[in-house]
Amino acid sequence: MDALTVGYDVYEIRKQFPVLKRELKGKPLVYFDNAATSQKPQVVIDALVDYYSNYNANIHRGIHTLAEEATAAYESTREAARMFIGAGSVEEIIFTRGTTEGINLVTNTWGRANIRRGDEIIISTLEHHSNIVPWQMLAEEKGAIIRVIPITENGEIQLDEYYKLLNEKTKIVSIVHASNSLGVVNPVKQVIDAAHRTGALVMIDGAQSTVHLDIDVTALDCDFFAFSSHKLYGPTGVGVLYAKKEILEAMPPFHGGGEMIKEVSFEKTTYNDLPYKFEAGTPNIADTVAMKAAFEFINSIGKENIRRHENDLLRYGTELLKNIKGVHIKGDVEEKVSVISFVVDNIHPQDLGILLDNQGIAVRTGSHCTMPLMQCLKINGTTRASFAAYNTREEIDKLAKGLEKAIKMLS
Ligand code: PMP
Repeated sequence: MDALTVGYDVYEIRKQFPVLKRELKGKPLVYFDNAATSQKPQVVIDALVDYYSNYNANIHRGIHTLAEEATAAYESTREAARMFIGAGSVEEIIFTRGTTEGINLVTNTWGRANIRRGDEIIISTLEHHSNIVPWQMLAEEKGAIIRVIPITENGEIQLDEYYKLLNEKTKIVSIVHASNSLGVVNPVKQVIDAAHRTGALVMIDGAQSTVHLDIDVTALDCDFFAFSSHKLYGPTGVGVLYAKKEILEAMPPFHGGGEMIKEVSFEKTTYNDLPYKFEAGTPNIADTVAMKAAFEFINSIGKENIRRHENDLLRYGTELLKNIKGVHIKGDVEEKVSVISFVVDNIHPQDLGILLDNQGIAVRTGSHCTMPLMQCLKINGTTRASFAAYNTREEIDKLAKGLEKAIKMLS
């Protein structure tokens, strides 16, 4: 069934993920916590081992062979990342520790240089804490004001309300592309175009969208775009911040240190060219190198094929879960990535999570780092099942059965 619906053999894909052979509490692992972090294919693990086994060296500085090989591998990931998100130039690709660091880089550099007392920063109700707190810290420091786009009860942003928030004081709009808590995909192109018409910049939090959707930052015309490798089958501890070249050129650096400079004297330092101006110190070379293997893994299956497969899982799972008495799906909308977030009448998500874990099913429970969203929805949290390229309908059947069993036990 799965193999027929998806355009690739999901069971062949599963073989490439060593952890999927694991058992949990005597049952085959069903891993549905992909929105928190995805599992890693053997090619990504091999790339890490190969780097440390064969050409570990510090980059950019050495003239010896290992340093040249490590530098070439590191820089070839930058080109792969550029292509993966449709950026115009590798100068616009900054390696970071992940989405969180990408957003903090923007608030600390562009933000500190450009935000003044009374300026307005727009975010949405759907944001992850990492796209709220850095802006709050900046706003507090500068005396700026945070405005929040409201959502409907289905978790869709209210565009008409957003348009009303935009005014000449708006300096930046920072918004999540796909919600980690609900899976809802925001109409970011409309958000960006409207912001630009009023002269504001736009930052997109691509932590959840980059693995599922085709990303073309040039066509989107966003000013900043951040994502993390670990949510797209790559290693933890590395990610990308994209920003338009002219904006990066005008921005002050983030961290000071080696690599980000051209010349240093005690009187004066000149900064390096892009993108190195924003990459102080020895970076996470191994994980950056292995991130390229993750891009290649996704490209080898094809994002379109993965999306078709995940949409099939999403539709199938939504129907199954909806029909279980007491289960209510949050964010059950047309435009979403493969996340099913739900509450169950009179049952705490954490209790549910523990009983599902006992059945070998890994889901996430709680507020998913979106406490303001939970407050808006008037719930204390959800249980979230999020799907990846390697998940199957059979696993969703297990979730549905496991859920029924857990609900019976807890009722
Ligand atoms: N934004 C969203 C929407 C996320 O889902 C996450 C990760 N849960 C982040 C930002 C932060 O990403 P990271 O922890 O990889 O920096």
